[in-house]
Amino acid sequence: MEEFDYVVVGGGSAGCVVASRLSENPKITVCLLEAGGAGNNWVVKAPMGIAIMVPSKTNNWAFETVPQPGLNGRKGYQPRGKALGGSSAINAMVYIRGHRSDYDGWAALGNPGWSYNDVLPYFKKAEKNEVVHDDFHGTGGPLNVAGIRTSNPFQDYFLEAGRQLQLPMNSDFNGAHQMGLGVYQVTQKNGERWSAARAYLEPNMSRPNLKVITGAPARKILFDGKRAIGVEYSRDGKPDSVRAKAEVIVSGGAFLSPQLLMLSGIGNAADLKGLGINVVHHSPGVGQNLQDHIDYAFSYRSKSLHHFGLSFKGLRHLWKEIGRYKRDGVGMVTSNVAECGGFLKTDPNLAVPDIQLHFSMAMADNHGRNRHLGHGFGCHVCLLRPKSRGSVTLASDDPGAAPQIDPKFYDSADDLDVMVKAFKITRRIMDAEALAKWRTEDMFTADVRTDEDIRSILRRRSDTVYHPVGTVRMGADEAAVVDPQLRVNGVQGLRVVDASIMPTLIGGNTNAPSIMIGEKAADMIKAG
Ligand SMILES: Cc1cc2nc3c(=O)[nH]c(=O)nc-3n(C[C@H](O)[C@H](O)[C@H](O)COP(=O)(O)OP(=O)(O)OC[C@H]3O[C@@H](n4cnc5c(N)ncnc54)[C@H](O)[C@@H]3O)c2cc1C
Repeated sequence: MEEFDYVVVGGGSAGCVVASRLSENPKITVCLLEAGGAGNNWVVKAPMGIAIMVPSKTNNWAFETVPQPGLNGRKGYQPRGKALGGSSAINAMVYIRGHRSDYDGWAALGNPGWSYNDVLPYFKKAEKNEVVHDDFHGTGGPLNVAGIRTSNPFQDYFLEAGRQLQLPMNSDFNGAHQMGLGVYQVTQKNGERWSAARAYLEPNMSRPNLKVITGAPARKILFDGKRAIGVEYSRDGKPDSVRAKAEVIVSGGAFLSPQLLMLSGIGNAADLKGLGINVVHHSPGVGQNLQDHIDYAFSYRSKSLHHFGLSFKGLRHLWKEIGRYKRDGVGMVTSNVAECGGFLKTDPNLAVPDIQLHFSMAMADNHGRNRHLGHGFGCHVCLLRPKSRGSVTLASDDPGAAPQIDPKFYDSADDLDVMVKAFKITRRIMDAEALAKWRTEDMFTADVRTDEDIRSILRRRSDTVYHPVGTVRMGADEAAVVDPQLRVNGVQGLRVVDASIMPTLIGGNTNAPSIMIGEKAADMIKAG
């Protein structure tokens, strides 16, 4: 069996950071196992490739949830990255950290070292911001953060609509204040996607002490008693294993990290026994506490070619844009689709924004899986701190089977109530003159008038905006799965480092926070 000091499972946003930072020391050997491929072709690099990856299985696990009673029994869709870079290889590249109070909340829950002031240095360590140079931002890190290079006039129309409603503007959502509307900064460099793999792994692939194995799904963690000693994985259908002298680090993301723990015998003992899995440690919290941003997307037809769409004129325009991109690295191909948006309060008395908007340069219908002829734009609105709590459980003891994902969307009546307010606020922006004059048809909401109509369409059309977290909850209490150093409780030599450790969902997109978690974990591991 090949032996390393550390074996990292999952080369996603957090896993790439951990593997890269630990292997900075040439005396430490690291093996990174990634189920997907290298994630370094044009569809990943060209930001517009998101339109191909999210609705399909290209670099994407493309999970479904179990039927959701809160969504009229519909199954939700859950895209997740399956390649080096993980979900940062298929995401919308919006660079957001969440609100200061989110991290202070983690610390208040009994997680010393995770307050905003504690994590800010790790956000800055990761970051190389091309746009803002102040105390909130880093300029020397591997993760390039840039302004959007599309110069799409609809950014201005969206902001103008906000101004027409006297809404506040914000030029840096990761600075002193989060509230307001603005254009998003993106994880791109020279107009290319800057995934965690691009930022952290690619420059270091030649390190002799770092071995990256792609196409290598981990099947289970190997234990000697209660100590993790290695990982069994498969490659080209054949079983293989690697030994970890110091630690196994699981970075499979919010759905697959709890799955791997459970397949390896860490989870609810009764459930595991029921599936014939040998119990290593009874930890009923594994897979529980799933939180995700429930989202509603408005959609409008328009004649403008500044929006993505299917038409002869549109294809001709796109062809020209591809030429422009190849020449100058600018234009529509650099679009992350969700170019602008912002953070608002559904109640002025709230201390922090509770909803986020993503204005979309395309019609938004079922994650791009329902295609429409013509062009249009849309706007997503999501609930930042939902009360509903879901779960990830095993469907079987087969590591190749997808886990059962149950976000329990709208399980809490409060979530639906706040989304009704969020719907009304977003619609006012969409109806403001600066935007309304561009639309030729309101695709789904023209007849929606009363609160009951709104509740009904929310149940019919809401789904995730791709930020599941919390299924391997960090905490100092007995029910927590990992401690504040991210060590799995009840066993030795095992940590989980990714979005699954978040005790509560942060108010914003989750890529930069997952990278921060990787940075902080690497420091904690190095410190011993
Ligand atoms: C469509 C989409 C759009 C998004 N848009 C944004 C955005 O604009 N901004 C933002 O901040 N966030 C966004 N996010 C969310 C963000 O990208 C994720 O929260 C973040 O990438 C999660 O990081 P992670 O390390 O927890 O997991 P991931 O990045 O998902 O990484 C997990 C990795 O582990 C691998 N893996 C899992 N199990 C195994 C196994 N058993 N063996 C080997 N490998 C395994 C997976 O293949 C994957 O590569 C988006 C996500 C999606 C899906």
